Amino acid sequence: MQSISQTLKPKLEMLNWDFNNRCEKHESYFLFDYNDNINSHCPVCYCEGMTKSVEQQEAERALDAERLKKYNTLKKLSILQDETLRAIRFSDYKPTNNEEKNNKNEAIDFFNRYRNGEVFNLWIQGLNTGVGKSHLGMSILEELNESVAKNRSCLFIDIARMLELIHDSFDNKESHYTQAYFTDL
Ligand SMILES: [Zn+2]
Repeated sequence: MQSISQTLKPKLEMLNWDFNNRCEKHESYFLFDYNDNINSHCPVCYCEGMTKSVEQQEAERALDAERLKKYNTLKKLSILQDETLRAIRFSDYKPTNNEEKNNKNEAIDFFNRYRNGEVFNLWIQGLNTGVGKSHLGMSILEELNESVAKNRSCLFIDIARMLELIHDSFDNKESHYTQAYFTDL
């Protein structure tokens, strides 16, 4: 069997040094690229550059994963009474009278303010059901989720449905919809 030094030796001899160029920082002559023998670099600077670029790629990948997690929150964790509200947008809301038209315009204004980074609580209230409160609320979230640079988490929780689920979790030990679950969201 060949010794390690014997195996390495021919490889080391193949290194083609560029004695016309020198890195003062690392006190090293440049090394020609293995493939072309035209371009040369300081081997240490070159390795440092490679490490940096790998680190950068890793950081970007981590950021993408974080963004994706935030982006998926709305779809994965929202609690809805009415499943038809999923992925609903402003364009799906067709006002049939002036009041509904105003409500839609106001909701779009609020969406724009959130998109521009304003922070505030919004209460959409009304005595009647079926007038589009949930629809407009979900539209604001959906549009935000799609428009913002995927760096915010949006979540839709139907309070009545949440209370039902918490109540159900008292008897159903398999359910993960406990009070603590919702508190942690
Ligand atoms: Zn160098």
